[in-house]
Amino acid sequence: MKKVLVLEDESSIRSFIVVNLRRAGYDVVEAETGEQALEKLAANRDVKLALLDVMLPGIDGFEVCRRIRASGSQIGIIMLTARSQETDKVTGLMTGADDYVTKPFSPAELIARAEALMRRSGGQDDQPNPDELRAGPFCLNTRNHTLEKDGRSISLTQVEFSIMRHFMSHPETAMTREDVLREVWGEDYYGDVKIVDVNIRRLRMKIEDDATEPRYITTVRGVGYKWEK
Ligand code: CA
Repeated sequence: MKKVLVLEDESSIRSFIVVNLRRAGYDVVEAETGEQALEKLAANRDVKLALLDVMLPGIDGFEVCRRIRASGSQIGIIMLTARSQETDKVTGLMTGADDYVTKPFSPAELIARAEALMRRSGGQDDQPNPDELRAGPFCLNTRNHTLEKDGRSISLTQVEFSIMRHFMSHPETAMTREDVLREVWGEDYYGDVKIVDVNIRRLRMKIEDDATEPRYITTVRGVGYKWEK
């Protein structure tokens, strides 16, 4: 079942989102405050996706996102940001969000983003993969969605996992940001390629020995990125 949590303090916006998600076949859990969202997530373990407004009374959407990730949860997270707050996008992604939607957004845009993220979190892929992809110290388990480096587990978001899977399936291949965007976010993604850079920056901090001198995910000048086997 497609179960989603919507955190938004303004009731008119919240109902607008909820109505459209229900129309698209989602089971929706609503929250008005960050505190309530965390409680409802704890009570509804089958929620696959959370839409988090940033500006809230009490703890804000970023803090909610941070706490969800700190709890070890890897559900899909989309931040709802205001157009005037450009930095919100990067801040949201750095706190562990998978995507963001800028207000005001159309129902079609929101549903497309939600669907793309649900597809990724479903773990279903077009091509059959062996359960494990191995390279150097890394072992990516495509069934359990886990990554280990030298036998030690590294916690990844769904987007980071998808990027790793794409890279590890195509070693020694230079990939453009657009390639990665299309592969990981899907054809129907509306956003820009900067989201790829932000996710790769975060991924490097998790997997590289020294994120400032990456040796696994290298930058190919003028092209994009490459996974070094
Ligand atoms: Ca708000």
